[in-house]
Amino acid sequence: MDTSSLRQLFRKLPRFLDEIDDSIYIMKVENGEFTYSYVNRPATRFSGITTEDVGSTFFAKNSEQMAHYLHRKYSRAVAERTAIRFEAGVVMPNGMVSGESIVTPIFGEDGEVEYVVCVTRDITAFKKTEELLRHYAYHDDLTGLGNRRYLLEHATGLSCIMLLDLDHFKKLNDTFGHDAGDALLVEVADRLRASFGDDYTLVRLGGDEFVLAAHGNAADPERVAEEILSVFCAPFPLKDRQIAVGVSVGVAIREDGEDVQTLLKHADIALYQAKGEGRRRYHIYESAARYDHVVKFAYELALSHAVENRELELLYQPIYNPFKRRIVGCEALMRWNRTPAEVVSPQEFIPVAEETGLIIPIGDWAVRQACRDWRELSKRYGPGFKVAVNISRIQLHDESFVDRILRMLQAEGVDPSALELEITESVVLHNVHMVQSILHRLRQAGFTISLDDFGAGYSSLSMLTLLPIDTVKIDRSFIRDMNAALVSAMLAMAKALNLQVVAEGVEEARHFVKLVEMDCPGLQGYYICKPVARDDLPERAPLRNDEKDA
Ligand code: C2E
Ligand code: MG
Ligand code: MG
Repeated sequence: MDTSSLRQLFRKLPRFLDEIDDSIYIMKVENGEFTYSYVNRPATRFSGITTEDVGSTFFAKNSEQMAHYLHRKYSRAVAERTAIRFEAGVVMPNGMVSGESIVTPIFGEDGEVEYVVCVTRDITAFKKTEELLRHYAYHDDLTGLGNRRYLLEHATGLSCIMLLDLDHFKKLNDTFGHDAGDALLVEVADRLRASFGDDYTLVRLGGDEFVLAAHGNAADPERVAEEILSVFCAPFPLKDRQIAVGVSVGVAIREDGEDVQTLLKHADIALYQAKGEGRRRYHIYESAARYDHVVKFAYELALSHAVENRELELLYQPIYNPFKRRIVGCEALMRWNRTPAEVVSPQEFIPVAEETGLIIPIGDWAVRQACRDWRELSKRYGPGFKVAVNISRIQLHDESFVDRILRMLQAEGVDPSALELEITESVVLHNVHMVQSILHRLRQAGFTISLDDFGAGYSSLSMLTLLPIDTVKIDRSFIRDMNAALVSAMLAMAKALNLQVVAEGVEEARHFVKLVEMDCPGLQGYYICKPVARDDLPERAPLRNDEKDA
């Protein structure tokens, strides 16, 4: 076909080829060389090739590098005699454009490839979105620094991690507002970038935690940590004021083969050590040192945020009266959902809460929550229904306890007769008279009091006469061993003193049968029901065959 008949052919190509979005190039193939035979209008827009260029090769119209690249791709389609697909970026005067192309060979009558048709789709916008998404996935929105994912994926060659935590950031945030807090974080990021930007990986882990990570073994950790502290020497502008903001730094130096997670954990321990030593300082993690106290400190700190972070939960375990054949009450048992995957039992965190005084806010939370739940439960089980709340001796010894609990109940619109307060004999360790008077006030207000874990301590019997109580809860060790003589003696004594009785730890059918036989009016234990969420409490206790027999 000569050139003029070719022109005729392409003139006849339908107009719509100019109207579609994709670029179309038809190349004539001759002696392994390609010459433009046809380009549509989008192709001109995309790559600058015009109909004037018909007859010239890639090399006449593209950069040398691009021409070689296209030549290779087209040659492959010819050699393999099949369509091939590729993606390429082209630098145009107005920026980089990206195209996705399919190159298809067209065969002549002799079976040789005569033309190659290339259709290119402009994917520049798509690429930009993809890049943007990638950026968001690996960067922190607020500061533009990398995020945790970025750190984890750029960990090769990491030699040292410095974990920074601003001192008292929460207080600043609460005092000056979130916008000011955000502005502070941005300023911190800017300062860090200005001081360390090029040589280190800078990451915001979340909240007020930043990481500065060194690669290779160039950095002297102590010098770098000092430098970080000096970045915080100048005050920060916060809402037209200049505020001094301190930082604590935990340093972890990588030892062979440690992964980033371990490195981060060590930096975290070192950070708590630095905080514990009085903040505004750094600490370098030493693998030989013992950090038990730091781990404990971290634990306490986490517990101190448990209420505000809504990590606490009350489960309920029914108390069953086999003679009324009804659930007459339930005990509130606290759980700490420290992370979505870790539930901490009260045996573990209540002692820590007691030691640190955190039991006061935590205990208050439990009382309020129990009141709210009682309102629901009394609808379901009747108004005489009681929720038992465990009260620690630390709470009871707090001067303002009685006034506070009364105010809480009033605020919740719940009468004290809704709650039974469970105490253990450890409450009278120091001052019997004071405890007596507190319990009298509570009973006068309408609460009932029960003595928990009865029999487990040393002086249980004397407690019965010393303390004004309504109920005894027989410790589960007696039920487990089913010491019938002892249990029936306790039941008789309770009856003589006009006290209610609940047997704890009813785990098996034989316990149940025996206790019913002995006229025990209150039963609590896994055999009846495990502690469950409020809404999972059974409507009525499951009636068991042996109970029907009993
Ligand atoms: P507790 O007051 O004697 O509560 C009964 C404990 O026995 C609960 O353990 C309960 O889950 C468990 N239990 C119930 N039935 C059975 C059974 O059939 N067999 C066995 N082996 N165990 C059974 P939990 O929930 O781990 O609570 C442990 C202790 O933590 C409680 O002992 C109580 O002293 C304290 N505690 C729980 N919640 C609170 C709270 O809100 N405030 C305070 N101050 N202490 C709490
Ligand atoms: Mg209890
Ligand atoms: Mg108990």
